[in-house]
Amino acid sequence: MTMEKQIQRGLFDEVMVPCYNPMAFIPVKGQGSRVWDQQGREYIDFAGGIAVSCLGHCHPAMVNALTEQANKLWHLSNVMTNEPALQLANKLIELSFAEKVFFANSGAEANEAALKLARRYAADVYGPEKTEIIAFKQGFHGRTFFTVTVGGQAAYSDGFGPKPGDITHLPYNDIDALQAHMSDRTCAIMMEPLQGEGGIISPTPEFVQAVRELCDKHNALLIFDEVQTGNGRTGHFYAYQGLGVTPDILSTAKSLGGGFPIGAMLTTNKLAEHMKVGTHGSTYGGNPLACAVGLAVVDIVSQPETLAGVKQREAWFREGLTKINDKYHVFSEIRGQGLLLGAALNEQWQGRSRDILLAAGEHGLMLLVAGPNVIRMTPSLLITQQEIEQGLAKLEQAIATLV
Ligand SMILES: *Cc1c(COP(=O)(O)O)cnc(C)c1O
Repeated sequence: MTMEKQIQRGLFDEVMVPCYNPMAFIPVKGQGSRVWDQQGREYIDFAGGIAVSCLGHCHPAMVNALTEQANKLWHLSNVMTNEPALQLANKLIELSFAEKVFFANSGAEANEAALKLARRYAADVYGPEKTEIIAFKQGFHGRTFFTVTVGGQAAYSDGFGPKPGDITHLPYNDIDALQAHMSDRTCAIMMEPLQGEGGIISPTPEFVQAVRELCDKHNALLIFDEVQTGNGRTGHFYAYQGLGVTPDILSTAKSLGGGFPIGAMLTTNKLAEHMKVGTHGSTYGGNPLACAVGLAVVDIVSQPETLAGVKQREAWFREGLTKINDKYHVFSEIRGQGLLLGAALNEQWQGRSRDILLAAGEHGLMLLVAGPNVIRMTPSLLITQQEIEQGLAKLEQAIATLV
């Protein structure tokens, strides 16, 4: 008989593969943008599960969709289709440029599908030479071997043996570098329309425009990785809708399920026809539970009031962060868009983002970082003004302990 083990942070080190370093407290319950740990301590949630919990914790619409579907049908496989998957695909097509949808379970898988589609399309239409994938430094696209290699931090893809080939990394927002490098051998450009993990870096409008034009000139596909920017995060349903540039393929995940694992690749009829029966697949992709929750989430997020609310909340965050900065001089810049916000640390605070994150945790605030020099906030799109104010007060207290 095994001894009853105490479920505490220490057990993590005993039983889990050590590829994470979680915080000391263990949350057990959430409601909206509030979370409680094992000791009943309350936290304000500015992290949103890394841009996932877009309706907050346990939103009734999600709970209802999940439990209703759970009482009907959980899983079928792709040997059959199912109603929630078709409804959600239909809805995503209504809301975007897309004409076809492929469902996966995560962002990396959606990107994997996007990259495989781009390679297959180029091989079918232009022949075997057109395989180059261009991506950007500091970009992040997931952790499968293909997607992590396309991501712009070699440290994440090194040390696993031979990498998928013909992937080039160029500086983000550098039109000249792209123009100089790109050729008819380029199969696709994959980019985030606002770099998240890389430090909350917005593209310039000229850069996105140039990327689209160069793709058209060289018959290359444009893949937007909207895993973090998508589903209302920037105040547009998808970020591309605020940029005046339409991709050929778009990947979406994170906020798509509001906390239930789901991802999707969106594309056009012309491209989709190259993914014939058997070219790609997934056991769980299009799972009825995931799609039922996704549909409930998208119904709320796509409402104009929700999207307008994101911009209002962004303004509240910016005001509050600016006030903290006037007092403590911590940030060089508040950047990002909507509720994908980064506060970049100034000279004196370089390298201290994790210190701030830990101090915030101690003061009852869940925060994120984007590298050592940026604190990141990706809360629920429905976070209230009061929760924002309370959270910022906790952030201020945390910072005060570090000066
Ligand atoms: C989080 C993220 C991914 C990876 O998503 P997973 O669900 O962790 O596989 C890919 N691209 C971007 C831009 C992300 O932010």
